[in-house]
Amino acid sequence: MEQVKLYDTTLRDGMQGEGMSLSASEKARVVQALDKLGVQMIEAGFPSSNPKEVELFEQLAELRLEQATICAFGMTRRRDASAEDDPALATLVGSFAPVVTLVGKTWSLHLEKVTKVSREENLAMVADSIAFCRAQGKRVVYDAEHFFDGYRDDPGYALECLQAAAEAGAENLALCDTNGSSLPDQIAAATAAVAARLGERVELGIHVHDDAGCGVANSLAAVREGARTVQGTINGYGERCGNANLTSILPALQLKLGFEVVSAEQLASLTETVHFLDELCNVTQNPDAPYVGRNAFAHKGGMHVAGIEADARTFEHIDPALVGNQRNVLPSELSGKATIRDQAERAGLELDDAAAARAVERLKEREHRGYHYEAAPASFELLLRREAGTYQPLFRLESFRVVVEKHAGGEVTTEATIKVEVDGQRYFRAAEGNGPVNALDRALRAAIVDRYPHLADIELTNYKVRILDEAHGTGAVTRVLLDSADGEREWGTIGVSENIIEASWQALVDSLEYAFQPRPERLRA
Ligand SMILES: [Zn+2]
Repeated sequence: MEQVKLYDTTLRDGMQGEGMSLSASEKARVVQALDKLGVQMIEAGFPSSNPKEVELFEQLAELRLEQATICAFGMTRRRDASAEDDPALATLVGSFAPVVTLVGKTWSLHLEKVTKVSREENLAMVADSIAFCRAQGKRVVYDAEHFFDGYRDDPGYALECLQAAAEAGAENLALCDTNGSSLPDQIAAATAAVAARLGERVELGIHVHDDAGCGVANSLAAVREGARTVQGTINGYGERCGNANLTSILPALQLKLGFEVVSAEQLASLTETVHFLDELCNVTQNPDAPYVGRNAFAHKGGMHVAGIEADARTFEHIDPALVGNQRNVLPSELSGKATIRDQAERAGLELDDAAAARAVERLKEREHRGYHYEAAPASFELLLRREAGTYQPLFRLESFRVVVEKHAGGEVTTEATIKVEVDGQRYFRAAEGNGPVNALDRALRAAIVDRYPHLADIELTNYKVRILDEAHGTGAVTRVLLDSADGEREWGTIGVSENIIEASWQALVDSLEYAFQPRPERLRA
């Protein structure tokens, strides 16, 4: 099988993305995770003298990696100065990284408008810089910045730049769609032209951005025309619309195009690895991400579910296990009894036929009112428990009251009072909060933690409100989704009402009651 290598630039290009920031040791953890996944080349950034970069390169030099090669990244020499006298190039060749990746210009528009360097001087800058790094014992990857724009503008000159890089000793030419402007057929045609001219001499790489939504397609198009190294970032992190998404490119290369990229075991660790990296980078997981998203193999419709049960190929493009993901059957009014029982089983509940039929009815009626259990599996489990007869209420509500007061000075205060019965004991509690839901949460917890102290550990981590339009002729309805966590697990609950406080209350009560239910096995929340 023919090989394609992955070149990850999460630590350099990926860090340009909004809100991305990692410490040196976090970056080292990214490198280790990528190495375990089987990524062949990892770009670590410019080894400058600022303390953070020094620390990073020191840590990377110490790592024992399975097969990944670390690449240091920098620019071709400055104009009107020799490569030997260029301090940045000296820093690059001074680093431990065996590979130096140099970025240089290939588009005459940039030479005229931005760098004001002549075409000849630019060719010399490319050739000198590469030759210098080679003479210092480094392997060199040449990133041809704006190659595809340059090729469309002036193909002769763009190819000349690449030729200069190849002749100076670069082992890999990465064709860059820096602005993300190109479409797959343009990438294919230009890559084919380069392959025809230089393909025998050097390895070709592809580095694209996702500005036109074609990052993955463009990378694959270049591979079809001869590129054998694909640059990109995990989950497509990167500035603007992001870089080419290696998370999607890897399985496409291996499972659909038949290239050998990583081992089958490494591919099966993809979902876990990218979720770990999301966490490390403090990025919310995209539930709809191809291959690795929570919904990538989720099935809702009754017919889909029946099809999947007959033969998974009917509604799944690959076996989710190949990328370490799993099938997920969502509760929905379209689900039949079989799906409901499947869900119940996962929660460790037994539902007989009559109970399953009641649960289906209840689900239909609730969805009609605006409930939506896909994002609230904990509320769904409580619904099933009610039908299974194993539901245990946490308390009995007598009443609650919430008062929001605005004072002349602009100050807003909120206070809630609640009367509940917990285990035969009546509690009356009051609490202040920064809003009505917060005050209500505090008052309720104050009433029940006496009896159930561990419920104090539950944290409400996310609170989302959506106004549903007049769907069923009843006027606007509010849907509240609440995420909770106790340090071990996370779970989602829902409330729906015309009154936002009541909707919030339902989601809040479900959250606490879910944590309180005894369960042998946990529903994936
Ligand atoms: Zn880039």
